[in-house]
Amino acid sequence: MAQSNQMIETLDDCFFKTADNIMKYYVNEEEKKKTLEELRSILKESCSESARILAASKIKEQLELTFDPEAKNVEDIIKEYKEAIFNIQVDLSEYNRLLEYDRQIEVLHQANEDTPSNELDDTDADLQLTGLDINVIDPISKTRMTNPVKNAACGHVYDKASLIAMLEKNKNTRCPVVGCTNLTYIDLNQCRTDIVTKTYLERNPV
Ligand SMILES: [Zn+2]
Repeated sequence: MAQSNQMIETLDDCFFKTADNIMKYYVNEEEKKKTLEELRSILKESCSESARILAASKIKEQLELTFDPEAKNVEDIIKEYKEAIFNIQVDLSEYNRLLEYDRQIEVLHQANEDTPSNELDDTDADLQLTGLDINVIDPISKTRMTNPVKNAACGHVYDKASLIAMLEKNKNTRCPVVGCTNLTYIDLNQCRTDIVTKTYLERNPV
């Protein structure tokens, strides 16, 4: 059975928070690096498992579609299924979860660079992150966000409270960001906490 998206999202947030904590609290650089590598390999394993489960259920569906008890006996079908599962090849190079994680970690690294772990220098973090194009202003209310959520359909980020208020007024609303090419209505279920922006906001209080 395939894992639900919700579960995977929660899991990915945990991975990111754990990485954030490792970066914040490990003093020894060598240990920090090693622990982060371990964490990434666990995530990779989890991605690989999800991809296998998905591939296996597709194989099963395919076999069910072509199932003909007259032509083949059940043992042969099971054998075919097992062989197909054994031969599943997983390519993680374009796997979104892993790419997104690496992107988030990159942002964290940049935020932590040149910042001594015992004193958080916001100016440095600010300078480092400017180049990463982190937007803290909510496109709906034009004020600083407190709870940024990212629309999976187009990648734009809004403040959750103003998004909900906007959708309550009119549930058929498109992304308000100027120039956004996504023409579908905003689906609140597709908007989840944007950890990168949230972390940036927390580290750079007004
Ligand atoms: Zn958009």
